[in-house]
Amino acid sequence: MTQPLRTPLPTAAAANHGGPSRPRILIIYTGGTIGMIENAETRALEPFNFNHLIENVPKIKLLDIDIESVEFTDPIDSSSMNPSHWQSIARVIEDHYADFDGFVVLHGTDTMAYTASALSFMFENLDKPIIITGSQLPIGDVRTDGEENLITALQVASARTPDGRPMVREVAILFEDFLWRGNRATKHSSDNFCAFSSENYPALASFGLGIHFNREALLNQTSKGELKVHYGFDTNVMMVDLFPGIQENVVRHMFNTPGIRGIVLKTFGSGNGPSDPWFISALRDATERGIIMVNISQCSNGSVMPGRYSAGLGISQAGVISGHDLTAEASVTKLMHLLARGFNREQVEEYMSNSLCGEMTTTIE
Ligand code: ASP
Repeated sequence: MTQPLRTPLPTAAAANHGGPSRPRILIIYTGGTIGMIENAETRALEPFNFNHLIENVPKIKLLDIDIESVEFTDPIDSSSMNPSHWQSIARVIEDHYADFDGFVVLHGTDTMAYTASALSFMFENLDKPIIITGSQLPIGDVRTDGEENLITALQVASARTPDGRPMVREVAILFEDFLWRGNRATKHSSDNFCAFSSENYPALASFGLGIHFNREALLNQTSKGELKVHYGFDTNVMMVDLFPGIQENVVRHMFNTPGIRGIVLKTFGSGNGPSDPWFISALRDATERGIIMVNISQCSNGSVMPGRYSAGLGISQAGVISGHDLTAEASVTKLMHLLARGFNREQVEEYMSNSLCGEMTTTIE
């Protein structure tokens, strides 16, 4: 799926004054609008190659960074992303982890938050930045947001603390004016340049005249050991969105899907659902069959609080665990990740309701 590493991009600084302290950044190009061009016949945007993309960012040569790149053999619209693509991205990063100070992943915006969440769970003991960015307008468009996003991403991936460590040591999404924790962010606009937000966690950095890091918000755990990459994902999961009027036959049909092992239930408000006996009984039947059920809220801001209303208490008494303030993207990728780790049910539930890498706030209830 990926091609061998390309030769370094000819940054001006590389030609002028190379030196041991220059940051080395690997760009991984997967596709997305940033590199797309218009199909002459259909007029629809289609992914294009990395050379086209980089030719449109001549300013990249001014950066004091050594940059190399690798690209998907067939760059894709991120709507086609699946766990095998996450594995390809992770493989490139793991294979080149020791050789680079940071990684910039160019990716479509549609499923960027899923990829960011998935990568955050895959990389245990991550000690370097993985910055994911893209754009709303193609890089060849005169009004593109891609150039600024790419250049800022390279600068953020190169940033170091005064004692020389990478400033960012986690998976993050960079878009327009902000850097967000990857497993906290959601695409909230298909139109605005500020396309991402993180309702339950502050920005890791903001961009204006300068790059302002929020050091309090950045993951600061001293890594406990060697980098370990977990490649497995169990895709026998589903997301069920409640709505007033949802019918028993529909719910039971979904919960009885053959092979299903985990369900993310998107409930109302602080984690509430219908009090109808059939609903609670359908939940209980599913959890008693061993299906791991996780309660997250349809609200993008705030957390599930299962004991606040009896409409939520019934759900937790049926064996559904709280996903606290997890995003939908983080909850489904975390569930796929944990189900593939070979843990028993209690362990999956325990890890699912606790933070692994800053994806949830567990102190609210
Ligand atoms: N459909 C595109 C994608 O996700 C949208 C974008 O990149 O903004 O690949």
